Amino acid sequence: MSVLNSLDIVSRDPIEVVVKKIKSGEVKVVDLVKEHIKLAKDINKYINAFISFTEDLALQEAERIDYSIRKKDTQVLSKKLLGIPFTVKDLYLVEKTKTTFASKYMQDFIAPYTATVVKRCMDEGAILIAKCNCDPWGYGASGENSGFGPTKHPLDFTRTPGGSSSGSAASLLAGVGYFSLATDTGGSVRLPASFCGLYGFKPTYGRNSRYGIGAMASSFDTPGFFARYIQDIQLLQSIMEGKDNNDATTFDLSKISYIDKNLSSFKVAIPKEFFTDGINKSVRQAIDRYIEFLKPQVKLIQEVSIPTVEYALAVYYILVPAEISSNQARYDGVRYGPQLFDDYTKNLLTGRSIFFEKEVKRRIIIGTYVLSKGYADQYYHRALLVREKLKKEFQDIFKEFDIVLSPVSPVTAFKLGEKVNDPLQMYLVDVFTVVANLVGIPAISIPVGSDSNGMPIGIQAMADNFNDYLLFKLPTL
Ligand code: GLN
Repeated sequence: MSVLNSLDIVSRDPIEVVVKKIKSGEVKVVDLVKEHIKLAKDINKYINAFISFTEDLALQEAERIDYSIRKKDTQVLSKKLLGIPFTVKDLYLVEKTKTTFASKYMQDFIAPYTATVVKRCMDEGAILIAKCNCDPWGYGASGENSGFGPTKHPLDFTRTPGGSSSGSAASLLAGVGYFSLATDTGGSVRLPASFCGLYGFKPTYGRNSRYGIGAMASSFDTPGFFARYIQDIQLLQSIMEGKDNNDATTFDLSKISYIDKNLSSFKVAIPKEFFTDGINKSVRQAIDRYIEFLKPQVKLIQEVSIPTVEYALAVYYILVPAEISSNQARYDGVRYGPQLFDDYTKNLLTGRSIFFEKEVKRRIIIGTYVLSKGYADQYYHRALLVREKLKKEFQDIFKEFDIVLSPVSPVTAFKLGEKVNDPLQMYLVDVFTVVANLVGIPAISIPVGSDSNGMPIGIQAMADNFNDYLLFKLPTL
């Protein structure tokens, strides 16, 4: 008897098509939500993509929407995501839902309020059905650090769907929901998007609010998301973005200048530092094929050099753990976390020792080391200077070019267990994605093919700060 090792992929329409059917009464929201929850629960037995389901809240909301449609409530009928089921990475606070950050340390936490970007989707009629598995607080590239076990790839259960937003990507690929909100601090949206053949978008830093999202590294964290179609990405971004008084780093976009131009006038840069020997052959071929396909459609494609890219990964793995070690200080058993003993210190030490996953501890230890007296000048402060240099080099590139192209990752979906015991190998998977977070620029993963095992491959496109919408003009192969 053969053992089931992959799922049948359920295909889905673009969001606008589904919303139209809902508004016309052709599709009942209650039926749609029930169908997606059933699929979510069925596949979860195989791929472990969800930490919790929000079934009761979802069905209540679905009934309310169906009632309003029957009553022809014009306000409800104008909503852009009306009745659309979606999921979120379990780093997002959603009022009254269990929010674990995929760590055993927070396994009993119920969120007291809802993250801004989730609320903006819900205000447009979207319905949350489940909260997705991921690496704890986003620390990882394969989902294997999760306190709730790894998510498996829907096309091959022996492989990772990529991380840290593993459950979001895996479940969307398998047909659950129409989009999934996640976070990208160093590639956690783009990498799993590439591994799962989805679009994964990381907006300009400060374009989408971080309010209500568990912090990883605050100067890198970007709320991003997955969708099956580029037009869905554009629609969702337009709904989520903009000033939020609860996040001081967000921008009033009406005051920001940006470039708008057509694909035919795009100038595209290919930095040679992203095309290293370590890139897997099928990834290289798929990227080359896309570049050839793009050539006749744009004004110019040219090889360039951005020398500091070579140091990006090293700098990332100094600055990010530094910010993590500071952000993790709030998990002290008083503000958050298990209360095991009355004694503060004993409770703090025991709770963190038992319930923090290994990678969480590793990041705190690296972070406190690079920030410590005697080492901060050697590591942390130097890394900050290199980050500035990298930003300056990208500014110069964007004076001449509109788009920068690179692979998302040197590899495709690898086997579970293959890298988890070798943190350096795992960190190398992020070599191309961390760059956009260091610089703050928008970046997207676009599906461009698959390898001989049928594992998808993505290309990464980056644009200048606030030119996010240029990325949505890139064609699909
Ligand atoms: N894999 C990267 C890391 O572990 C990125 C994580 C992320 O974007 N949340 O740091």
